[in-house]
Amino acid sequence: MKEDCKTKIAQTLCKLNIDGLLRWVNKNSLLVVTYHGVYDKFCRGTLPLFTHLHVDLLREHLKFLKSNYNVISLSEFTSCLKERKPWPERAALITFDDGLRNNYEVAFPVLKEFDLPAVIYLTVNYIGTDKLLWFDELYLLLKKCLEDAVKTELLAEYLGPIPDSCDIGELYPICSKRLKNKSIMERMEIIKRLKQLACIEGNPILSEPFKFLSWEQVLEMKSSGLIEFGVHTATHRMVSELSPDEWEKEIVAPKNKIEKIIGNTIDTFCYPNGVPDVDFFQEHEKFLKSRGYVCAFSAHEGLNSPKYDQYRLGRISVGSDISSEINFFRLNTAGFISFLRTKLKFIT
Ligand SMILES: [Zn+2]
Repeated sequence: MKEDCKTKIAQTLCKLNIDGLLRWVNKNSLLVVTYHGVYDKFCRGTLPLFTHLHVDLLREHLKFLKSNYNVISLSEFTSCLKERKPWPERAALITFDDGLRNNYEVAFPVLKEFDLPAVIYLTVNYIGTDKLLWFDELYLLLKKCLEDAVKTELLAEYLGPIPDSCDIGELYPICSKRLKNKSIMERMEIIKRLKQLACIEGNPILSEPFKFLSWEQVLEMKSSGLIEFGVHTATHRMVSELSPDEWEKEIVAPKNKIEKIIGNTIDTFCYPNGVPDVDFFQEHEKFLKSRGYVCAFSAHEGLNSPKYDQYRLGRISVGSDISSEINFFRLNTAGFISFLRTKLKFIT
């Protein structure tokens, strides 16, 4: 179905207040919204990445959440969990994954404007560094290769078959999916080869949207009382690709590091990639529990009913595609898409 058709359907359903009805039906469930990067300097289309959202859309979402939900803080949620008491009706939690600098520069002022709490899941070893995540680096490299008209055959040598004359919007998802399925060594080798084809280093404008927070920014957000933090591993490795002897350094060491720097207990985790039984398994859930984590957020799309699963909490992911369109957002956050999937088996 085409996007404008989906948008029209969403608009009609919202006019009929289907989202309002579903919010009432699901009033005892917890909504967790996932964002990543937020930008304000680039117009839509120049950054065609799902994980980067224009600030105007974020503002629209926050306004909606503020009027239709009880937006709770991470501490409020974890105290409900520890004391085994229910969260308030229509509870919602706002999360940001990765720990990008624009969370401080662009999203934080908007959260303050609405006085809404949020949680940022930090890729701990990247905080305060100039490092970029491999998939963001891949995006920049591919974009540069296309601009420099690097021959498709050369790219294909490292990335596998590539359609001729495709743009970055088509090329990036194909390549990131292929690299995700490779081992970390192979992935890094391909990135290294691509760097030899296209030079992006020393171009701060290009890499700006993908840079990480500094610890000073983390501390300033913490002292506002609005922002809390959790662990998104040390280096954004999918936990399923870690060998058990790497668990300590990717899961436990980052927890200790944030606790030491900010002086608060850190006891929530967010899986990179996060698809249950693909990117993490029960053995990881058990390990998290044994190391003092009280819950973990996954990429399972859906609301959390009162009988939720503590170490695979579902979320609603919002990015720069149709998921951020306000009517679609209203339906999706009310549980409409997961309702279609689970109850009607409409979408598989
Ligand atoms: Zn992530």
